[in-house]
Amino acid sequence: MEKRYYPLSKYLYKTFSKKVYKITLDAGLYCPNRDGTISFGGCIFCDDKGSYSRCIEEKQPIEIQIKKGIEKLSAQFKAEAFIAYFQSFSNTYSDVENLKKIYNSAFCDDRIVGISIGTRPDCVDKQKLDLIATYKHPTIEYGIQSANNETLRLINRGHDFECSKKAIIETKKRKIRVCAHIILGFENENRQMIINSAKKIAALEPDAIKIHMLTVLKDAPLYKQYIKKPFYLMTQEQYCDLVAEILEYMPENTVIERIAGTGYSETTYAPQWVNRRFEILNLIDKIMIQKNIYQSDKYCDINKEGNL
Ligand code: SF4
Repeated sequence: MEKRYYPLSKYLYKTFSKKVYKITLDAGLYCPNRDGTISFGGCIFCDDKGSYSRCIEEKQPIEIQIKKGIEKLSAQFKAEAFIAYFQSFSNTYSDVENLKKIYNSAFCDDRIVGISIGTRPDCVDKQKLDLIATYKHPTIEYGIQSANNETLRLINRGHDFECSKKAIIETKKRKIRVCAHIILGFENENRQMIINSAKKIAALEPDAIKIHMLTVLKDAPLYKQYIKKPFYLMTQEQYCDLVAEILEYMPENTVIERIAGTGYSETTYAPQWVNRRFEILNLIDKIMIQKNIYQSDKYCDINKEGNL
């Protein structure tokens, strides 16, 4: 069934004319929001794996991780080409020389057609961006999470939305693709605040977006807070309905990279429905059909609203 939004698979096929999959990698880098440079606590929703997907074995040379990733994705999905995705922690948190060695090592196989680097918006500078711009099909995935500064303070992000905005502008200037990550469901945010936040992010025209439901992970600081004082977590239906509306505000060419995670029920405390990926995807499709809505239907409204 044709999606009513622009999915990653469609973008990748259109760009490379072959089946391209992302290989998740652990570069062994850490995070300034966990090592005491900004704070020791980290973002309240992050566990000790730092957004690591758990699909790969840690602490192996990049070349080995790439080899194993290619073998697995070729066998499982008949993948023909790959994007090296540095996912764990902050993958620009080192000096430029070391980053160059790390990124170079990802291109150890001719079938690697691009690079995607997950990081914090306060963890890039001109030199790092100039380096990343030299690679094939580069993308930086920024954890934006919210455009609301009060939320960013409450979740201990250690940067404000201005910082995200600046990083996105500098990144796009260098023709590096930007993928913005946002999280829905923070305790202090109601539906309208979330929509406003998504609109501000949409106005920056990210090349891609990943939308996540706030999840209480058993090893994250949020777990202790939640046990002490539980707060309302959206139902699957509410999340899907909200995502469908957010997609209406996204620009037509923004690739929807992720709207349902591939979580692990053993590390998830609540809500458990976040791990039922296909149910979430199907429900979002159903809602968009029922309401007869498409991605970008309301995007022009953002421009009309001027300075959000
Ligand atoms: S979410 Fe990212 S920035 Fe926040 S503590 Fe985890 S690794 Fe660091």
